[in-house]
Amino acid sequence: MLYCKRCNRLVEGEICPKCKKSRHLRAPEVGDPVLLCTVRYALSAMIEPLLEEEKIPYSKAALGGSAFLGGSTILENYAFYVPYGAYAGALELLTGIFADDEEVRLALREAAD
Ligand SMILES: [Zn+2]
Repeated sequence: MLYCKRCNRLVEGEICPKCKKSRHLRAPEVGDPVLLCTVRYALSAMIEPLLEEEKIPYSKAALGGSAFLGGSTILENYAFYVPYGAYAGALELLTGIFADDEEVRLALREAAD
């Protein structure tokens, strides 16, 4: 398992699937921020207190503004980052709680592909 320090994601293999490069890859360190998932506001508001409750340190970044898609306005998406040392625990927590929520499961998978 390697870490892309440009995309803040864990990478299986030799090339980052996001930036398509290998030169940003290195072995992950405990404090490296890892992308946990990118979700819309309503879900971010559910995820945030869960991470806080479990004392999982995280940072949140707003991505882009609103956009039109299928007639409904999508407000900002939020990307959650957790330190590499806390990533496995955070992933397990959210996978368990959102076991029946296809949207969150997809977001978790997408961030880790
Ligand atoms: Zn990358």
